[in-house]
Amino acid sequence: MRGAHEGKIPTRNQPIRDFVSDRVAILMGMHLGAPSKPCVAKGDRVLMGQLIGEPVGPLGVAVHASVSGNVTAVEPIPYMTAEPMMCVSIRNDFKDEWVELNPLGNVETCDPALIVPAIKEAGICGMGGAAFPTHVKLTCREGATCDTIILNGVECDTHLTADHRLMLEEPARIVDGLRAAMRALDVKRGVIAIEDNKPEAIEAMSKAIEGRIGVEVAVLKTKYPQGCEKQLIKSITGREVPSGKLPVDVHTIMLNVATAHAIADAVIDGKPLVERITTVTGCVLEPGNLRMRVGTYLCDAIGECGGYSEYPGKIVCGGGMTGTCAPNHDVPTTKATNGIVVFNKPDSRSVEEGPCIRCGRCVEACPMGLNPYLIKHHCDMAKWDEAKKLNLLDCTLCGCCSYACPARRWLTASFKVAKANLAIAAERGKAQ
Ligand code: SF4
Ligand code: SF4
Repeated sequence: MRGAHEGKIPTRNQPIRDFVSDRVAILMGMHLGAPSKPCVAKGDRVLMGQLIGEPVGPLGVAVHASVSGNVTAVEPIPYMTAEPMMCVSIRNDFKDEWVELNPLGNVETCDPALIVPAIKEAGICGMGGAAFPTHVKLTCREGATCDTIILNGVECDTHLTADHRLMLEEPARIVDGLRAAMRALDVKRGVIAIEDNKPEAIEAMSKAIEGRIGVEVAVLKTKYPQGCEKQLIKSITGREVPSGKLPVDVHTIMLNVATAHAIADAVIDGKPLVERITTVTGCVLEPGNLRMRVGTYLCDAIGECGGYSEYPGKIVCGGGMTGTCAPNHDVPTTKATNGIVVFNKPDSRSVEEGPCIRCGRCVEACPMGLNPYLIKHHCDMAKWDEAKKLNLLDCTLCGCCSYACPARRWLTASFKVAKANLAIAAERGKAQ
């Protein structure tokens, strides 16, 4: 599935530019796993990189202040979740005073046993959208082994160019992050996967890997959803991740290029994850790629990009295919916000669902080999357990089935809701 330019033209040649807002709202639940527990109070002065949220549970991730300044509130705020989410708001004093950092130094010579603890301390989670805790991913469970780490530089979703720019502008840092992860797990093969629609990034990364041990660049055909974890692993290694299994079950770990960059920051400089590159595009006057502090409000980022060029109908956090609709522009970015895409009113109108005509196009379109129309049938009746039996949990929410469906069935949206319900049930220990 490919359009003329997938909405990437307005920003693909826009260099990364820094934007620092005078306030941030840092959510405690930016990662997959239990929300972190705030450890600061209203009125406290915090330094940049200071721990403000302690990890909770096995998938817990540390949260740090992304600016120095005063804490103005510690309270739940409305977010894209069913319930309001706990948040620490900070007024920026623009001094950028850091806490004391503990760098490990050169990724090739530091003690490999200290790399994963440094990543954990830095609060890194997957920055390609999934937000899975990176230190957990890089801790192979008992008996599991990994021989290949793949860096995902595919960025196949529409509108996004943040990873593309990062590969162009800071390729050596990305390779440093990959090498750190390889050394932590004693993995001999590292592959940076890039689609062939990014020739400049391929050139920059190919140059950056010169002389680096065990690292290669793999050029892939441009095809949505090439960047989905299981598809990419198959393309690179020829290995198929079985239904219900993880990449590590086929001896592979995948990280996003931005995550690798954050790993390098954590190892080389001791810096926690407090900023990231986000593509701000769609109906804004000056689309661009902004390096922003975690917790920047969407409206502040949009303002930095000249404001709206048309009356907004919908704001999506993430790419056009897999992103999540924001309730309004008064919500903050997270560690996983790779895009802010503003759609105008006509492009945001919701389409009535038609009845399924059993044409089978959704089945043909599904890269995971699922039966979307049947899964949707069970989802419509809230039979999550039946949907699960049809491998709903393998669904990557890529949107291909919805795109292909002539009846405009709300397939992907239903699967998102169903997966969220199953996750809540699992969390409560009542998985069906
Ligand atoms: S969103 Fe649709 S096409 Fe994509 S994996 Fe899920 S069921 Fe398959
Ligand atoms: S593509 Fe749409 S109409 Fe066709 S089988 Fe799938 S859900 Fe039904």
